[in-house]
Amino acid sequence: MTPRAGEGVHTGRSDLATTPEHSETVVIGGGQAGLAVGYHLARRGRPFVILDADRRVGDSWRRRWDSLRLFTPARYDGLPGMPFPAPAFSYPSKDEVAEYLEAYVTAFDLPVRNGVRVDRLSWDGDGYVLAAGERRFRADQVVVATGAYRCPRIPAFAADLDPGILQLDPNRYRNPARLPDGGVLVVGAGNSGAEIAFEVCGTRPTWLSGPDTGHIPVRTGGRWDRVLTPPFWWFASRVLTVQNPIGRKVRPKALTTTAPLERVRPKELANAGVERVPRTVGTRDGSPLLEDGRVMDVATVIWCTGFRPDFSFIDLPVTDREGLPVHHRGVAESRPGLYFLGLWFLSAFTSSLLGGVGRDAEHIAELIDARYVDDRPAAAIGAPRPPAVTRSAMPVKPNRMTAHDDI
Ligand SMILES: Cc1cc2nc3c(=O)[nH]c(=O)nc-3n(C[C@H](O)[C@H](O)[C@H](O)COP(=O)(O)OP(=O)(O)OC[C@H]3O[C@@H](n4cnc5c(N)ncnc54)[C@H](O)[C@@H]3O)c2cc1C
Repeated sequence: MTPRAGEGVHTGRSDLATTPEHSETVVIGGGQAGLAVGYHLARRGRPFVILDADRRVGDSWRRRWDSLRLFTPARYDGLPGMPFPAPAFSYPSKDEVAEYLEAYVTAFDLPVRNGVRVDRLSWDGDGYVLAAGERRFRADQVVVATGAYRCPRIPAFAADLDPGILQLDPNRYRNPARLPDGGVLVVGAGNSGAEIAFEVCGTRPTWLSGPDTGHIPVRTGGRWDRVLTPPFWWFASRVLTVQNPIGRKVRPKALTTTAPLERVRPKELANAGVERVPRTVGTRDGSPLLEDGRVMDVATVIWCTGFRPDFSFIDLPVTDREGLPVHHRGVAESRPGLYFLGLWFLSAFTSSLLGGVGRDAEHIAELIDARYVDDRPAAAIGAPRPPAVTRSAMPVKPNRMTAHDDI
């Protein structure tokens, strides 16, 4: 592998608050997206450092519920340069993904600093300034790869539920044994909600609230999965892109539509004893209230009502009124040198997935590399860039990223 990717980063600690560390590029977030752009920057010999809030690489996967297995087969779970080490049509567990990400960092010697949460990203006229507690970093480029599925989206009325009801979300639910006795209302009938309801209903009365999202007719891991997934993946990553009229047409709808069920089917949910109920619309006397007026007497509510990213630490005018970045293929058009990665449908339907993030990462690394000609900055930060050399830099209307409903 080319050069010491972390060079340019100085680790002196005595005067952390006063002497910022400088790196040509700082990547915020060391999940799959941050690692993938790290791989491509290192290949081009560009210095960078990856700052990550978690204690260990892979923790965002480790935190997810115990029984979670990927919805995408191993064949499409590899990051650039390293296939996922499992049979092509097996479905790795979340802990296997975490291990794979750790192995990826080791294999390519990526400079990840764990335990560094960036709490402010700003610009001081000369470059980007990142604050992480007492530490300060400076960078000419910043890639924000902090995850599209960071925060569960929970309706405001959840605050009115009786404090005696345990409230969880997919990031805090672990397994049925950790739940109190009594009924469970799972709100949101996408893949997370359906899988959690299916698991919980073995030991507790379980209701799954929300409209049927449909299901994929092909059985995960079955013969038709092997036949149909490759062309579907090709279509989702090559045709459903923002560079293509079909992709541009599909994108707004795809961003707001809950994905159909992949593994657990509606019939299996019913056979297992999960009772489907309408939407949860509010509370009455501290209990969940359904659209049809029913009040649910339950001990636990698990909110599976989707996820959203969190860019509240960015102190720059690059987000819209909903706090979501305005970008084109991950490039913040209003801020030269600032990039986003790993967002839902960033450039393609597969952009936020393990097997899809690599292409966007390569594109962003290419753009960063193109800012340096003969190793001298070709474009001063803040000044207009020279015309980008990549096909992907063709002018297209900027995208407004939207929160995705559910995985
Ligand atoms: C339930 C569920 C199931 C999924 N299943 C699949 C699947 O089967 N196949 C698939 O391909 N994808 C799947 N995904 C989607 C996607 O692959 C994952 O969400 C993946 O974790 C996204 O990787 P990421 O690097 O973009 O973000 P994350 O994994 O969330 O990593 C972001 C990193 O940024 C760090 N960070 C955040 N904020 C800061 C900050 N301010 N400063 C420093 N560090 C920060 C975090 O600590 C974290 O390590 C699933 C997602 C969910 C929620």
